[in-house]
Amino acid sequence: TSNHQNLHFVLLPWLAPGHMIPMIDIARLLAEHGVTVTVLTTPANASRIQPTIDRISHSTHPIQFIPLHFPTTEVGLPEGCENMDSITSTAMITTFYNASKLLREQIVHHLHKLKPAPSCIIAGMCFAWTYVIAREFGVPWFLFHGFSCFSLFCLHNLHLYKSHETVSSPTEPFVLPGLPHRFEITREQLPMHFHLLPQYQEMCDEVREGELAMDGEIVNSFDELELGYSERLEAATMKKVWTVGPVSLYNKGRSDMVERGNQSMFDEMRCLNWLDSKKPESVVYVSFGSMGRFTPAQMMELGSGLLASNRPFIWVVREGERSSEEVEDWLLEKFEKNGDSRCLLIRGWAPQVMIMAHPAVGGFVTHCGWNSTLEAVSSGLPMVTWPLFSEQFLNENLVVDVLGIGVAVGVRTATKWGRGGEDGVLVGREDVAKAVERLMDGGEEGEERKRRAKELGEKAKKAMEKGGSSYSNMTNLIQYVAEYAAKSTVEHMT
Ligand code: UDP
Repeated sequence: TSNHQNLHFVLLPWLAPGHMIPMIDIARLLAEHGVTVTVLTTPANASRIQPTIDRISHSTHPIQFIPLHFPTTEVGLPEGCENMDSITSTAMITTFYNASKLLREQIVHHLHKLKPAPSCIIAGMCFAWTYVIAREFGVPWFLFHGFSCFSLFCLHNLHLYKSHETVSSPTEPFVLPGLPHRFEITREQLPMHFHLLPQYQEMCDEVREGELAMDGEIVNSFDELELGYSERLEAATMKKVWTVGPVSLYNKGRSDMVERGNQSMFDEMRCLNWLDSKKPESVVYVSFGSMGRFTPAQMMELGSGLLASNRPFIWVVREGERSSEEVEDWLLEKFEKNGDSRCLLIRGWAPQVMIMAHPAVGGFVTHCGWNSTLEAVSSGLPMVTWPLFSEQFLNENLVVDVLGIGVAVGVRTATKWGRGGEDGVLVGREDVAKAVERLMDGGEEGEERKRRAKELGEKAKKAMEKGGSSYSNMTNLIQYVAEYAAKSTVEHMT
C-alpha cells in the first residue's frame, strides 16, 4: 500500500444492486491502495449494506459515506423507491432517472465541502450527466457501466455502424458488426439505449454524451478473461480502460461474502450445512440476479425442469415471485413439504459469493448479469445461460461462444425489464433439464468446459493478487489521477 491520502476519489454508484455491489468493492480496493474514498448514495441504498458500512468504518481503510436525499414522492415515485429494483413498470424508469438528475445540487454542495478536495469522480452509468460537475471541479471523470469490455466493444460498434437501426422490428435478427466471429442478435436483446424508444431518448443521449466526454472507463473484469477485448475497446473508443476485477474477490472473509448487498437476514448456517452434506461439484446454483422475476407459469416450468434434472440444487426465489398464491402453494408442495434434501430454496436474497465459493457447487444457472457471470468465473464454475434483458445476451455470447464455459438454455426473446415469461413460457422444462444435464455431465465436451472454467478461475485470482493485471491496473488508475492532480497544481501556479 502506498500513501496517496491527499488523493480523493469520489464514487457515485448508480442506484441498482448490480451497480452498488461492485462499486462498493471498488471503493474498498481504492481505500486499501491508500487513497481517500467517499461514496455518495441515498439512505435506503446505504441501509441495505449497513453491516458492510459498519465494518468498513472500523477497518484500517475507512471510507466516507455521504447520504443524498432522493426525491421520490416529489416526482411521484412511491416512498422508499430509491433503487432500480423497486421499479415495477417501464414507465417508472424515466421518472426514476429524472429524479436522479435532481441530485445535482446536493452532489455539488457536498463536493465543495470535501477535504481533501475531490481528485476525480467515478460515476455509475446513469449518472453520466455528472461529467459536467467534474469539469467544474477540474478533475478527471470516469464511467462505470458495470459491463464487460466485450459488451462495451459490441455496443461501441453499434453506435458506429448502427446496424440495429437497419432492421424493421425489435425482434428481427441482424449480425452484430465489428466482431471476428458471427453473432446474430435482435434489437430487443440489447440494452435499452438501442431500443429506439422515444421515452428513453433523453436518457440514452445523456449516457452517450458521458461516454464521449469521459476520461476513461473502469471495468469490473480482467484482461486474461477478455481475450484482447480490453485493448480493442481502448483502440476503438480512444478512451482509457482500466480492468480492475473481479472485484468480488476482494471479499475473502465469510462476513464479507454473506453481507454483500444483503437485504434480509439469511440463515447462513442452514445453507452451509446443506452444502457441506453434498458431494464436491454436485450442486447446481440457480439465480437470476436482483431484478429478474418470472411469471407463475415460467416459475413452474423452471422448477419442474430442475427437479427433472435429478441433481441437488439451490434455487433463489425473489420476493415478487412469491406474491402469487399459486406459486407459493406449488413451491411448498414440491420443494419444502416433504423435506426433500435435494433442493434448497432461498427466499429473497442469497449469499451468492459464499455459495459459489463452496466446493460442493459445480455449476450455475444464470441470467448472465455481468456481476453474477464474473463471480461464477472467479469460482471456476461453468454456466447455463438464460439471459433476460440489458446487455445479458452479449454476456451469453462471451460465455458460450468466446470463452466456451457455458451452455445456452436457448432463450430467443428478451423479457421486459427482467420480467421473465410475461409473454407466456419462454423456456420449457425439457430445455431446462437438458441444459443442466449437459452442464453437469456433458461428456468430453462438458469436461472441457469445466477445465476451462477452472483455469479462468485461477487466472481471476492471479489478476487480483499483487503484480497481477487487475492489481497493476488499479495502481495505474491511481497514478493517472495523481499525475492529473500534479499537472493541475502546476498549471494553477503558472
Ligand atoms: N446477488 C446476491 N444474492 C442474490 C441475488 C444477487 O448476492 O440473491 C448479487 C450477486 O452476487 C451480484 C449482484 O447481486 O453481485 C447481481 O448483479 P448482476 O450483474 O449479476 O445482475 P443484476 O442484478 O444487475 O441483474
